[in-house]
Amino acid sequence: MSPPARHPDAERVTADVFQQRPTRIRVDLDALAHNLKTLRAHAGVPVMAVVKANAYGHGLVPVGRHLQAVGVEQLGVAFLEEGVALRQAGVTVPILVMGGIFGPQASELIQHDLMITVSSLDKLRLVEAAAEALGRRAQVHLKIDTGMERIGVHARNAGPFIEAAVASAWCDIRGIYSHLARADEPDSPATAQQLERFLDACAHFERLGAPMPQRHLANSGGLLWFPRTHLDLVRPGIALYGVMPDPALPSPLPLRPALSLRSQVVYFKVVPKGHPVSYGGTWTPDVDTRVITVPIGYGDGWPRALSSRGEVLVRGHRRPIVGRICMDQFMADIGPDGSAWNEDEVILIGEQDGHAIRCEDVAAAAGTIPYEILVNLNLRIPREYTGGV
Ligand SMILES: *Cc1c(COP(=O)(O)O)cnc(C)c1O
Repeated sequence: MSPPARHPDAERVTADVFQQRPTRIRVDLDALAHNLKTLRAHAGVPVMAVVKANAYGHGLVPVGRHLQAVGVEQLGVAFLEEGVALRQAGVTVPILVMGGIFGPQASELIQHDLMITVSSLDKLRLVEAAAEALGRRAQVHLKIDTGMERIGVHARNAGPFIEAAVASAWCDIRGIYSHLARADEPDSPATAQQLERFLDACAHFERLGAPMPQRHLANSGGLLWFPRTHLDLVRPGIALYGVMPDPALPSPLPLRPALSLRSQVVYFKVVPKGHPVSYGGTWTPDVDTRVITVPIGYGDGWPRALSSRGEVLVRGHRRPIVGRICMDQFMADIGPDGSAWNEDEVILIGEQDGHAIRCEDVAAAAGTIPYEILVNLNLRIPREYTGGV
């Protein structure tokens, strides 16, 4: 099967045409640097900052560059193309591609100086063959499965896997790691069990008389709530952005949210009592009331699940979202006496006049996790960056 022909405009960055849009994301680079320092001090070990999925919506390249500038030890991404984008932007710190790899990618990973997750004996052989063909050693992290049942060799089968990797002529073992399934549940015994399984697997290095590579296990939850999982390196994602993994758990550390999402009032009207608002007529005022329209919707990644559930900040007041969220707009009720003008600032995530709407609040209202709120904010929304000099 031949690949589809490449469209001549495929390289065009479609997001460019949205740069002037008044609806925007603001990323506070100083908050990111503060969070990195705070998390590193808490863990007492180096940090691999996780910047997959467009740096959790914050912008892969600006965030990767800034973290490098403020001294992050390593970066973690999900797949090859994210690592290549960072390398092409001049990022030189070690980068681990954490996802499973496909055979043809091994050569590219090595050529872009990306550390490879080796998650099975088969993948080890693929990487060795690519490295030998290039005449260049591959930098690898071995992936052990201790309870996710995702990629990785089961801890109980780790012996022969580690032995083969240690014997490999073409792989440098830079790390060994696993991933926690329930680290956002501070009371769950699952994490301690995963840690035990992981340490048992790591012990094969000692048995073989091979040097112990960097051992890492802790995501944000592990870092925040399970100190024994810190080991030699921590891999925070969401906490680095100042957001908690679970909306119900307060942060034990003084982290600062790096992202705010803001728009402006684009329309004001009085909706008479009894007149339903938006698609499906799911919300109807029982008094004459004032309703504003805000130009952002589920086509931007603002969840439709917030229909008649979420809130926004306008002129220092919390105002409920009313009716269904549309693709590009939604409405909020500012009440019979509320005041708002066209172009007034509307805060969807962030602070205004001493009030705050956190990403965690939005996630709770939408019935999802903060991760999904952040990564769904798509490239129709321009990003601007403050601080960082
Ligand atoms: C996404 C990811 C992380 C970061 O997880 P957070 O919960 O955002 O801290 C760490 N390790 C791996 C393997 C991941 O896929």
